[in-house]
Amino acid sequence: MFDPLKLGRHVARQVTRGRARRYYRFRPARFYGGIATADCLGCNLRCVFCWAWQEVHHAPVWGRLHEPEAVAARLTAIAKARHYSQLRLSGNEPTLVMPHLLEVLARLPKDYAFILETNGLVLGAERQWAGELAAFPQVFVRVSLKGCTPEEFSRLTGARPEAFELPFLALEHLLAAGVDCHAAVMLSFSPPQARTALRKRLAAIHPALADYEAEELILYPPVAARLARRGLKYLSARLPSGEPAPPA
Ligand code: SF4
Repeated sequence: MFDPLKLGRHVARQVTRGRARRYYRFRPARFYGGIATADCLGCNLRCVFCWAWQEVHHAPVWGRLHEPEAVAARLTAIAKARHYSQLRLSGNEPTLVMPHLLEVLARLPKDYAFILETNGLVLGAERQWAGELAAFPQVFVRVSLKGCTPEEFSRLTGARPEAFELPFLALEHLLAAGVDCHAAVMLSFSPPQARTALRKRLAAIHPALADYEAEELILYPPVAARLARRGLKYLSARLPSGEPAPPA
């Protein structure tokens, strides 16, 4: 088990040079009804179900370095070409290099909604970033929780169970700072009682958080192989085709 904040600081140094961060792709994506997407490199977790596993593991050497101005320009160009009204950073963990992210945000037109997808560890550990994000009212933060209990989180991500607390803190910090946010939860490994307890815990932070977004495991062949190697059983999953997968 590793300390994800320590790992994150290490990886952040590997994927940045000056103001630039490594990215592996810029693309139009169908999610959220259409969104311009910049896929960054570098993460502080090692989720067994990660669809970007190769990118996470090759982050220091894959892709190319891009300054904030270039990232903002590429996102805006894609959005204009596709008539999208939404932008995002995705791929690995966008908050890993917060100064770079804030510089990108500062260079984006304010009339585009920006969806920040994060595992919530950095925003939970360092409260000041929520205040900095509040300067951008077009930002909406989707905090993705990896499992419903500290033990599940640790089994799924490889990180110390104590870090399970950080996304809850992130939600608290964001709400206190007036930043729009919601929670998403990987539920495929969680029994009903764990889901219920999680819902109560989120509702205690804010009643609206009880209505969280359910994430489901997608059994891409490399993901299925990793799960089998580790002997991890899931309770529900989908095949890449979208059909329900047979039970593990
Ligand atoms: S937090 Fe996201 S990018 Fe990072 S390992 Fe987990 S699923 Fe992959």
